[in-house]
Amino acid sequence: MTVEELPTTEARRLLPVLREIADEVGPRAGAEGRVADYIPALSEVDPTAFGLAVAGVDGEVLGVGESRTPFSIQSVSKAFSLALALGADAEALWRRVGREPSGNPFNSLVQLEQEDGIPRNPFINAGALVVTDHLLTTTGDARGAVLELLRAESGNPRVDFDASVARSEAARGDRNAALAHFMASYGNLRNPVADVLEHYFWQCSIAMSCEDLAAAGLFLARHGLRGDGSRLLDRSAAKRINSIMLTCGAYDAAGEFAFRVGLPGKSGVGGGILAVVPGRCTLCVWSPALDRHGNSVAGVEALDRFTTLTGLSVF
Ligand code: GLN
Repeated sequence: MTVEELPTTEARRLLPVLREIADEVGPRAGAEGRVADYIPALSEVDPTAFGLAVAGVDGEVLGVGESRTPFSIQSVSKAFSLALALGADAEALWRRVGREPSGNPFNSLVQLEQEDGIPRNPFINAGALVVTDHLLTTTGDARGAVLELLRAESGNPRVDFDASVARSEAARGDRNAALAHFMASYGNLRNPVADVLEHYFWQCSIAMSCEDLAAAGLFLARHGLRGDGSRLLDRSAAKRINSIMLTCGAYDAAGEFAFRVGLPGKSGVGGGILAVVPGRCTLCVWSPALDRHGNSVAGVEALDRFTTLTGLSVF
């Protein structure tokens, strides 16, 4: 029996659209943009790769192209660490990090000095370091907590860190170290800088496929409910994460992303983007060639085509 002959689910309904997008956008992957090379291990990835997956809130996941190839999730992990961090003493966290778009590159230092060591939002690197610090205090193992959540929600126990990526980023981590030390000088880190950086780099190094990541993000489309029916976040917290993804998930191109795609999304310099259609489904696209803001060129194009073809956006 082929997938089309089985009873219709959200993922199956959308699969023909995904195929159309893969036919249209897939062949152009890598023609524009460049793979991230400031993390040497990421520069070895094939820039022409393209994968796209959809996960319905019913839990079914389908994909096209290289949707089962693991890639480095990088900053997509920030949506998951924020979800975990908001589970314990969210008010304390919001005193240490804002929720406004930064309008600056994801690794920028300039705003931090003007704003007394309080990062603009949890999705720029400085903000994510504060989230990691908070999670380290509340769980004792920030990277382990993120990995456990991703394994559980993707249903794939083989999801793991990529040690070569983590070490490669640590070896070239001067910019993140500068951000962390700077915030520490304002008293905005509770744990030693070296520990916060270590957990942050390992969390970013997690390798997953589009299908795994789309499944793992479903709690954001299910208003906070996990795959087993238990609650990770209350409705309000899930709404807030989606809101921050819409306004800050693509760094200094978040406005352009909202304009073109019209969905909450979180991108990473590995070339992945997780997008959420609340109440319906999640999408994950991967293509490693990035624009100058650090967002996947073909990934944004694919999501733009998806919302144009289906009308499924939050607007
Ligand atoms: N680990 C990367 C960094 O800190 C994440 C950046 C990103 O994906 N935008 O530079």
